[in-house]
Amino acid sequence: MAAIDLHTHSSVSDGTLSPAELILEAKKADLKAIAITDHDHTGGVAEAMQAGIIYNIEVVAGCEISATWNEDEIHIVGLFLPENPEALNKHLEWLREMRAKRNLHIVEKLQAIGVHINYERVVNIAGGGTVGRPHIARAIVQAGSAINIQSAFDMYLAPKARAYVPKKSFSMEKALALLQAEGATSILAHPGLMRMDRTQEKSFLKELKDMGLWGIEAYYSKHSKEQTAYYLALAKELDLVVSGGSDFHGSIKPDIFLGRGHGRMCIPCEVLESIKNTRQKKGFYVP
Ligand code: AMP
Ligand code: ZN
Ligand code: FE
Ligand code: FE
Repeated sequence: MAAIDLHTHSSVSDGTLSPAELILEAKKADLKAIAITDHDHTGGVAEAMQAGIIYNIEVVAGCEISATWNEDEIHIVGLFLPENPEALNKHLEWLREMRAKRNLHIVEKLQAIGVHINYERVVNIAGGGTVGRPHIARAIVQAGSAINIQSAFDMYLAPKARAYVPKKSFSMEKALALLQAEGATSILAHPGLMRMDRTQEKSFLKELKDMGLWGIEAYYSKHSKEQTAYYLALAKELDLVVSGGSDFHGSIKPDIFLGRGHGRMCIPCEVLESIKNTRQKKGFYVP
């Protein structure tokens, strides 16, 4: 069955393939469409769209925005961004500046407690992509201050650990409003990873819908068959659109395959058709 993937990362954020390589990978995987959804960044979209024309595969312009809700980090995937989302980009730039400041602050804290790492090394490890705690963790391991990435998180980088610094991000309202202002379709990413029971989750979704949320990612690499079925039914019940994606990152997450997730996921083309139909009905731009 023909399949699509509406949640993927390139080297513009923390993936390992360039935007063009990502699209080529989608072609090789025989996908009919792919969305590029880098974290807090739209910088890879133009290259991906160009590659889509060259390789003859439909590319959807997107991004994945981090937002905060009750101290939890929630991700919103935005799909069908305009060619130049100027206002959104300005806000994402602010977010990235805050991230850079936070990384520096974490490194300073580590140095102050005797972990011998420096920021240049961390940036190097990130290889030109978005620097984050996973790269700092790797530097800590290389410095011999932790035996592996997980223990680097547990000892230094997780909330309440010695060098933890909270992240500044948008409120849910802000993230959804920014996407709405660009005419994008907003999707709650990986709902199955939220730390909520199903009653809380349902009322949270209703709240988000009132703030402008369009839909949820029912198909996701880490969702069980049962979870996917549940979210498909929930979307219907709450009149939300359905999306789906692997959260492919390339070789840093080698267990996730483009379009197929951990192996058997398959997101039908109708998912994208249905999003487009909803956009048309609402009077939003459809390519
Ligand atoms: P950052 O955006 O810099 O806060 O880094 C977030 C990333 O760090 C997540 O996407 C995970 O890959 C990783 N991460 C966060 N918390 C943990 C944890 N407790 N243990 C291992 N990895 C984590
Ligand atoms: Zn990522
Ligand atoms: Fe995410
Ligand atoms: Fe993601």
